[in-house]
Amino acid sequence: MNRNAQPNSNDPAAACPCDGTVMRKVDVEGVVVDRCPGCGGVWLDLGELAQLLGVEDAKTEIADLDPEAHTHAPASDTVRVCPRDGQRLTPVRVPQQAHIEYDLCTHCGGTFYDAGELRDLSRFTLAERVKSLLG
Ligand SMILES: [Zn+2]
Ligand SMILES: [Zn+2]
Repeated sequence: MNRNAQPNSNDPAAACPCDGTVMRKVDVEGVVVDRCPGCGGVWLDLGELAQLLGVEDAKTEIADLDPEAHTHAPASDTVRVCPRDGQRLTPVRVPQQAHIEYDLCTHCGGTFYDAGELRDLSRFTLAERVKSLLG
């Protein structure tokens, strides 16, 4: 367990599900999310997703996080696990936007997006999809 100094952060540092790099807290319009400095992926806890969906221009902000990230495609057969609880993540493809696939933890509702994926999602599609998966 290592705690960082940020006042609103009482969760331990999360490891990137993609490459294991310790993710960094990034402030997006007041919502603190975890971003991997190695691959540019973004982890959102369930509450963070809801907050982001309610924030105007959040997609623009997230797009701004990506310019230096490489858009390499990680091996699709890699097993990814939730950085919060170690559960295996479920790959989810967005029906209306088939080129986008993200990883969902059905245990805690967290979601992981490879670099560039999150900004491509319409917030409506994302919200509906997550809602249906979580019941
Ligand atoms: Zn990563
Ligand atoms: Zn989880």
